[in-house]
Amino acid sequence: NNFPGDNSGDLRPRQTPGMLYSKALPTPVQNPQLLAWSEDVAKELEIANPTADDVKILGGNLVTETMYPYAACYAGHQFGNWAGQLGDGRAITLGEWQTNTGKSWELQLKGAGPTPYSRRADGRAVLRSSVREYLMSEAMFYLGVPTTRALSLVTTGDQVVRDMFYNGNPQYEPGAIVLRVAPSFLRFGNFEMPAARQEEENLKKLVDWTITRFYPHITGEDKIINWFKEVVERTAHLMVEWQRVGFVHGVMNTDNMSILGLTIDYGPFSFVDNFDLRFTPNTTDLPGRRYAFGKQPGIAYWNLGCLASALAILFPDTDQLVAALDTYEPIYVQQYQTMMANKLGLDAVRPEDGVLISEFENMLAQVKPDMTIFYQLLIDLPQQLNESEILNYFKDSFYKEPDSDKSTALYNVIQKYEQRRQTNAIPEEEAKERMRAHNPRFILRNYLLHQAIEELEQGNSQLFEKLQAAIKEPYSRNHDAFFAKRPAWASQKAGCSM
Ligand code: AMP
Ligand code: MG
Ligand code: MG
Repeated sequence: NNFPGDNSGDLRPRQTPGMLYSKALPTPVQNPQLLAWSEDVAKELEIANPTADDVKILGGNLVTETMYPYAACYAGHQFGNWAGQLGDGRAITLGEWQTNTGKSWELQLKGAGPTPYSRRADGRAVLRSSVREYLMSEAMFYLGVPTTRALSLVTTGDQVVRDMFYNGNPQYEPGAIVLRVAPSFLRFGNFEMPAARQEEENLKKLVDWTITRFYPHITGEDKIINWFKEVVERTAHLMVEWQRVGFVHGVMNTDNMSILGLTIDYGPFSFVDNFDLRFTPNTTDLPGRRYAFGKQPGIAYWNLGCLASALAILFPDTDQLVAALDTYEPIYVQQYQTMMANKLGLDAVRPEDGVLISEFENMLAQVKPDMTIFYQLLIDLPQQLNESEILNYFKDSFYKEPDSDKSTALYNVIQKYEQRRQTNAIPEEEAKERMRAHNPRFILRNYLLHQAIEELEQGNSQLFEKLQAAIKEPYSRNHDAFFAKRPAWASQKAGCSM
């Protein structure tokens, strides 16, 4: 291992007490080829189009003198249980990239080979999961949801074993590497690790560094508690945004919760097609459905509780932390109602709107229409339709014709909603504008991703390219070729593990 100026970088799996990270060089691949490059991210980073040498860097085959590759050490609670040390098992940070505008970005390869935190796994990523992360993280960005981003997608030319025991034979998939980008990939788990090891000094150092680097506006004696409050706030905001667009993360373990309130670690995620609060895309989360669509806001609170416990050793008593944690629910509820008012085209959240909003959501949970299509239709809802006309108006959003109870529920809620919308103090056109701005018309549906990946594996990138274009304009009508329900062959069920 020829680390520039250093021959450490031992990649053997191990516990690393006392360490916040370990040096780790990428392991070279057979034949790195650029499959996708995000010009918008490149522009943000002030990076020119990739040269042949750049592609080597993106594939992990070249580390330059100014890079300082490492894997972060973190722990986590997985599915509610303490899992001990985890760490970047297949992610290697190449270093930080400073732009002329003074922004700093962490550049991280995902799938570049083993690190001390790979445990028994290979440190690699397959094309399937890499395409998913590349497209979805960018899709979330254009939706306006806080997220990590992706600069490039490189195929490695290597085959990666995924399913060892499929019909008794190992299954191979093409390998790939994403270069992902964020101000920082720090997770709740990075703070849980030194806390669990009772490394108070390391924890304090990490907290101070995080505040100085990423929360520089927070200073003074109470900075740690004020920082925690802001993490609570950002996390609540992120949950509101996920619920707004119908995003289900699938693996909300504390090691997958960003300390900056970003969507991070794209694994078995999915948008909901039909509105189903019990939906989880994660096969390993059945039958518990801990991370189902409707549970995400509550799980985020639980995860913040883990973070608070980790920080507790820095406080004389836990009162302040508990009080800060208690702000989560009111912040969430307030932001959630504002978000819903925007989706529904209401001029403001009035005291009585809370009831309408929850009745509306209950109705959706009963009728289970396609969430995206239903809200699009709602924008131009004609007035004073009777029950059968309403059924007919929303019919393109139904996966299953509502029975008479559900139809009545739909009718009743729509009537109340229409009355409320008529009392708006803003013009109708402004209400519609608001709805168009908060309800996506294009979402990167799971079946589309699935199709694009199958085609890519056969060397056809047409759909992939169309999706790359569509994710950039999710609120427009420019990609209405995709404005349709999930087709019958692609059921909405847990069907994905990484
Ligand atoms: P995840 O569920 O994807 O958030 O991953 C949980 C832990 O497993 C993290 O420490 C990952 O780095 C690690 N991990 C996941 N996949 C791999 C892999 N293919 N090789 C090494 N480590 C992995
Ligand atoms: Mg993870
Ligand atoms: Mg992952």
